Amino acid sequence: MHKGQAPGYKRERIELEPCSVCRGKAVVMGLFYELVCTECNGSGWVVRDSKLVLSLDELVTQLSFKLQQTEREIAALKGPTKAVGPQRQYEQSNRLGAGGINYTGD
Ligand SMILES: [Zn+2]
Repeated sequence: MHKGQAPGYKRERIELEPCSVCRGKAVVMGLFYELVCTECNGSGWVVRDSKLVLSLDELVTQLSFKLQQTEREIAALKGPTKAVGPQRQYEQSNRLGAGGINYTGD
């Protein structure tokens, strides 16, 4: 399935969905051992809606796009926590624990 893309164009980002046969696991349980799922070329992913299987070279590229996107999402999730740090968190909980009440009776 060659699409004959014009040079200079960005590679197409194909929307993927988990393979329904192996449920995204890339392998299916055989009688005695796991077998590579043939429905998704052992990737666990098929093309969204059409359920087509990508060729191996296209699959590698599309999985790379997916991995890069996932890593960006993970980095974004980790980002704010890292910026705060344990020191800041300690101070914050300390302030909350002590409360605003500074009662010095007279
Ligand atoms: Zn599969």
